Amino acid sequence: MAEKGNISRRQFVASAISVAAASSLPARSAFAKVIADAALPQTGGPLIDVPGWKDQGIENLAKSPHAKLRDIPVRAVTISGGFWGPRREINVTRSIPTMHDLLEANGRMNNFRRLVGKSTAAQSGPVYSDSDVYKWTEAVGFVLQSGDRPELRASADKLINEVVAVQEPDGYLNTYYQDDRKSLRMLLQTQTTGHELYCIGHMLQGAIAYYRATGDRRLLDAGIRFVNDFLIPNYGPAPKKPIVSGHPEIEMGLIELYRITGDKRQLDLAGYILRGDKRIELPERRTIYMFSGTPFTARTKMEGHAVRAMYACCGATDYYMETGDPTYLQTLNTLWNDTTTTKMYVTGGVGSRSDGEAFGDAYELPNFRAYGESCAAIGNMMWNWRMLAVTGDAKFTDVIERALYNGINSGMSLDGTLYCYRNPLAFDPSTGDKIRNTWYDTTCCPPNLERTFGSLPGYFYSTSADGIYVHLYDNSELNWHLENGVGLKVAQKTNYPWDGGVEITVTPAQASEFTFYLRIPGWADHAQVAVNAKGVLGATPGEYLPIRRRWSPGDVIQLKVEVVPQVIEANPRVADDTGRVAIQRGPLIYCLEEIDQPSGISLSDVAVNPGRQPAEQFQTEFRSDLLGGTVVLHHTGAVYERGDSEKALYSRYGRQAKTRKVPLTFIPYYAWANRQASSMQVWNLLLQA
Ligand SMILES: [Zn+2]
Repeated sequence: MAEKGNISRRQFVASAISVAAASSLPARSAFAKVIADAALPQTGGPLIDVPGWKDQGIENLAKSPHAKLRDIPVRAVTISGGFWGPRREINVTRSIPTMHDLLEANGRMNNFRRLVGKSTAAQSGPVYSDSDVYKWTEAVGFVLQSGDRPELRASADKLINEVVAVQEPDGYLNTYYQDDRKSLRMLLQTQTTGHELYCIGHMLQGAIAYYRATGDRRLLDAGIRFVNDFLIPNYGPAPKKPIVSGHPEIEMGLIELYRITGDKRQLDLAGYILRGDKRIELPERRTIYMFSGTPFTARTKMEGHAVRAMYACCGATDYYMETGDPTYLQTLNTLWNDTTTTKMYVTGGVGSRSDGEAFGDAYELPNFRAYGESCAAIGNMMWNWRMLAVTGDAKFTDVIERALYNGINSGMSLDGTLYCYRNPLAFDPSTGDKIRNTWYDTTCCPPNLERTFGSLPGYFYSTSADGIYVHLYDNSELNWHLENGVGLKVAQKTNYPWDGGVEITVTPAQASEFTFYLRIPGWADHAQVAVNAKGVLGATPGEYLPIRRRWSPGDVIQLKVEVVPQVIEANPRVADDTGRVAIQRGPLIYCLEEIDQPSGISLSDVAVNPGRQPAEQFQTEFRSDLLGGTVVLHHTGAVYERGDSEKALYSRYGRQAKTRKVPLTFIPYYAWANRQASSMQVWNLLLQA
């Protein structure tokens, strides 16, 4: 989020302690009463609204000509229990309410109130502070799509009233560029570093999620007024004024808005921004950092600020889905290959450099110094979700799952109130780094995590012209319909990801022929599939298995993949991982925390001994009492005994270092840093044979 060099790790820590704990704040009692939707004036113009607001998914791809898959509504899937159920419940009962209080306590709402004389507080927070409020609103919107939560609804209603109250007659809305900063609005410098359009992009996404939950158009109409009254008449191709996206986000917002208004000017503006306004000349290092300002389709590699790059790719994929311009798809594939073959962590995190919060060079994937911002992993998931919609290719789902279970899930503490900004793959508490905090003054990641967990049911399935795709596995029920209108329920029973058995009951409203695309996870060695206990051939890891037949109510699909510990090595060009291995089990990456190991053992001296049958060298144990209930892995590894000669910085090659056996205990990476401060590492030395 930060401008290059603006935020150091030390500042994260400082900002984290700038605020009192949520428990010491005034109770959230003064909620405005819910305003009846029907009484609200609708001033944003007509919506094409096909399908209706209740039936739109995370993205509304119903009319997108170049999307192969269509989203299902978030409300169509109910996740109960299992792996994600408790996480989502904590998100609703702890994370979102405490974040509301923190936004209040840190002046984010007073920024709005002061403009209508309801607060005497000075403007507070960085240029992008309004986006925190909008991302929180989006999280609430997704949660409300899964069912009413009156208290959350009341909080959001009050907040939305306060936001729309400060919109100016010409449609402008941004609390930072008021008073003496009014003259800075949309100046070139502000467009490149001031996050005005970034904030509006988040406003549009928040407004749309809230609209899809409630039908309430107040925030949506404010967003439409900003876009249609302020932005489109004044900015764009000559003779309008130049426009550039200093932090991509507006592209996604404009295109999703287009999908519900049908106003092609919104799509065209997104396209204009993606092409880059030739009248704006910026230094190359700036357009690299922003991942914007030059033609998107001229890009050949991932570079610059990781979140910007990811959001730009999301917007470009959205643009492709609406226009079918093949140069976009070509560029997106090039960038995807570059990311996944040279620049992505095993956790699905991206953006390895702290400096500029940026992508590094190819294979530059340090562990201790890994940046891996939570927002960037989320951006990676959002982009792959869009590429999946374009293609139906399971390689994108594999990245979604990798990021979701690991580099995203690590971003929020198990109790839902502490967040990572960075998600390193090795950690040493003696550096003084406090990795999880309740609040960051740049608080982009926490509400981003909240909206991701809120929207999660919408990622489980897609429909296509010929059937339905299942992407993710957990105890859940889908209640939706095929694209031909036939009602369809799908129930999943599973202990995924702890084991690899999934029982899927398919219940169409009436017997119907269609294809059920069953995802076979890419990490699996092989998979067995049966329908009504009769084997189905052709299951290939990393692909969807198309099962076409006449489905009758109560048909059962059984999927079995072996979930066993796997020892993973990195490409030898990843210098930090040379001579090291990581442990994966199912979609979960594992790590060592020092507190789980025998005392006196330093993780930097520990080695893994995979033997000839690595899966047999690890014993699994489900620990219901540990870290919210988790499978730990026990392994007899080795520890290097640092004799005098091995203590030397350099010594002669060939001297055999002494080792002794040591019992090691691995936990899933997502659960690290939930107990006392402790060293952690994902990539462990490999015992030399
Ligand atoms: Zn962030």
